Amino acid sequence: MSLTFEFATPAPVPTPAPDRVTLFVDVILPLPLPKLYTYRVPYELNDSVVIGGRVIVQFGPKRTLSCIVAAVHEMPPKEYVAKYILEFIDDAPVVTQPQLKLFRWMADYYLCTLGEVINAALPAALKLSSESRIQLHPAFAAEGTAYPLDAQEQRIVDALGGEDGKALTFTEVGDLLGIASFHKVIKSLMQKDVIFLFEQLADKYTPKVVKKVRLAHRYISQDAVEQLFAELASKPKQIDVLLKFLQRVPVYRDEHLNQVGLEKAALTSSPHLSPSAVNTLIKNGILEQFDQIVSRFPLDENPVAQLQYQLNEAQTQARDQVLDLFGRKDIVLLHGVTGSGKTEIYIDLIRKALDGGGQVLYLLPEIALTAQIVTRLLRVFGSRLGVYHSKFSDNERAEIWNGVLSGRFQVVVGVRSAVFLPFDNLALLIVDEEHESSYKQYDPAPRYNAREVALMIGNFQGAKVLLGSATPAVETYYMARQGRYGLVMLSKRFGEAGMPEIELLDTRKAREAKHMHNHFSADLLAAIEARLAQQEQVILFQNRRGYAPVVACQDCGYIPKCQSCAVSLSYHKHAHELRCHYCGYHEGMPTQCPACGSRALRTQGFGTEKLEDDLKIMLPQANVQRMDLDTTRAKNAHQQIIGDFEQQKTNVLIGTQMVTKGLDFENVSLVGIINADAIIHYPDYRAHERAYQLFVQVSGRAGRKGKKGKVLIQTRDTTQVIFDKVIRNDYQEFYEYEIAQRREHEYPPFTRMIRLTVKHMDQELAQKVAIRLVQELADRLGRSPVLGPEPPYIFRIRNFFLQEILIKLPREHTVLKQAKLDIQAAIEIVRDQKEFKQARLVADVDPM
Ligand code: ADP
Ligand code: ZN
Ligand code: ZN
Repeated sequence: MSLTFEFATPAPVPTPAPDRVTLFVDVILPLPLPKLYTYRVPYELNDSVVIGGRVIVQFGPKRTLSCIVAAVHEMPPKEYVAKYILEFIDDAPVVTQPQLKLFRWMADYYLCTLGEVINAALPAALKLSSESRIQLHPAFAAEGTAYPLDAQEQRIVDALGGEDGKALTFTEVGDLLGIASFHKVIKSLMQKDVIFLFEQLADKYTPKVVKKVRLAHRYISQDAVEQLFAELASKPKQIDVLLKFLQRVPVYRDEHLNQVGLEKAALTSSPHLSPSAVNTLIKNGILEQFDQIVSRFPLDENPVAQLQYQLNEAQTQARDQVLDLFGRKDIVLLHGVTGSGKTEIYIDLIRKALDGGGQVLYLLPEIALTAQIVTRLLRVFGSRLGVYHSKFSDNERAEIWNGVLSGRFQVVVGVRSAVFLPFDNLALLIVDEEHESSYKQYDPAPRYNAREVALMIGNFQGAKVLLGSATPAVETYYMARQGRYGLVMLSKRFGEAGMPEIELLDTRKAREAKHMHNHFSADLLAAIEARLAQQEQVILFQNRRGYAPVVACQDCGYIPKCQSCAVSLSYHKHAHELRCHYCGYHEGMPTQCPACGSRALRTQGFGTEKLEDDLKIMLPQANVQRMDLDTTRAKNAHQQIIGDFEQQKTNVLIGTQMVTKGLDFENVSLVGIINADAIIHYPDYRAHERAYQLFVQVSGRAGRKGKKGKVLIQTRDTTQVIFDKVIRNDYQEFYEYEIAQRREHEYPPFTRMIRLTVKHMDQELAQKVAIRLVQELADRLGRSPVLGPEPPYIFRIRNFFLQEILIKLPREHTVLKQAKLDIQAAIEIVRDQKEFKQARLVADVDPM
């Protein structure tokens, strides 16, 4: 394929018939197709072609789809007769030229197709297909729209009408209007916020509504309110409420604030105010109640405040060093211990970049993107800030996408998929917690690492990239040491808080001395109790969810396993179920052994659920909450749990990795790691790096805002090398130790790795395909860089048997590029074999 992404060459000047040019476009369908398809442009639409814009085409006998125009030319395809484009949707690109260039690079680098990249990149609301459906937007249903609707638009609105929120498929819309080209009408209605789009009924959009109060209009004058206070003189409780309201919403300073109002709950849930007084004021028409549709990340307080903290000396110095290094280098690593105040440095740099007229992308790992940080950023950047979160609905994502295109959002804070947004003028990219594995997408393709993509975007757009971490990835630190990246250190926590004190608890000894209570050593339990007695909070970390990973029959040894995967089923007590953590299969917990009928079924090992259960029994006075995948599935559950902990409604938080990241609680003085060994002994070359990062990050939750925290780590073997470095918080020493291992065993950063996985329902065929693939690879690359095939530890998932091949390549760019072409070729050859038709081949570049 030799496509060039030349940008919207100004639409060809319409030439009078009969010598009109015949135009063709190559389009990227949002499907995993290896090549682009060519369609013909109807003459009368020659002027409408926009590169990067969407068009509707027919694909397959019944399906119509929107796709992106990648190129325009005058060459008919050789192998087939091009079909006509059905409709042009956009007058301006929705995918920009820099994006097309980036997507092309991603497809090449990550060994996938351009269609797969586009599919991941575009929010569903920008992907129209004959299966899409539309529904009235709740905001329109409630308030109507300020925009005029034309006759066609009005007909759609009437058909959708009513309160019950009827939905129409695109096919139905086409029938209704009696025309085939109705997509522009739909686009227009979407832009006016009259309708929104969804793929399945289950995706229906439910806006978040809050009850608010404001002052009745007639009291917005000094005189009126003085009179009011005089009238209420004998009702001190109502006066208290009014005073509180006026303190939070100073309408006499700025009358507009009354429009924003105040959440009713801020008054009714205050311990100092009487809820019935609030209601009396509403009943008497002094306060007015109203509903407001709010964003998921509201400005909870005074929306006009734009405050920025003053950087302290260390922060100022670090910031200046970053700026200085940016003069010479495109990439800088900010290595700052947990709680050193990196966020404020980012904020300062973002402000500078915006002042210079550039755009900013601020990436955070999934879990760290909480209301805490978003609220902080909104306070400084207000409506210029867009937030891109994976739990957002498609429409919310499309809104951010369009907002970046239109220039409404100059700075976006988002998770990994925010790298796909249509920036074209970035000045700065920040990758916070750059070591995080959640920047890597495992499935489906493109299996990209957002950190690497950010580096490439910086390169393409001439933007600077700042990587931040308390525990940098070994690869990143290596680049900094080599002088390829600039390096800035922040070695003290912000304010008075010192680094926490870390201590090991020997569970083997404790067990011998009969000092273990369930999975808690007596020392850990005593420490928890002591902290709770001081009204302080505790975080406990355990890297496994559910109640127990294994159930076993005490009489015959039978262990229930998943029928589709090679794993034992985990017991989940709350649901009283056995569940597979790989495919989601679940069944009721059996009362007797399916093999021998014995009733002696016992659980082995433990997860967060068991810890929660045990702790609630052992410390009944404690308020224990659990945060893991099981308790955070609902859209706002995560925020809720964090909110409760923040407001100290709960005092012990037990959780998986979710509790280790980016959270900043003032009152946490103790962190416990329940089972360190399971983390250290994970079968992967990165196990030590992960363990170090995890221990240091979770420790970072202890003792902020002036209090010195404590961390207790339970382990069976206190002599393991890594502990010593964690305890002394000595990243340098950890790095020296780890990089030596990597060099010796030729792991990254000294090599690049590509993992190929063969999946087949038939175990023997999986092996056969893998062996053949290894042959093809060895023919091209030589045998020595190709390792395997081998079945992975969990060798069967969702009925597919797995075989893995690992390829280790030198880092040199040119070698790597050629090797990838060779790998593609080898994969193609194997895919084309008839007998291997059912096999799936997956390539993962830089696997994590
Ligand atoms: P890090 O991201 O490096 O772990 P944070 O950015 O979370 O650290 O900062 C730690 C704490 O210190 C936060 O509560 C933050 O609000 C506070 N903080 C940081 N810098 C300042 C500053 N210049 N003024 C006031 N508070 C600050
Ligand atoms: Zn049995
Ligand atoms: Zn399974």
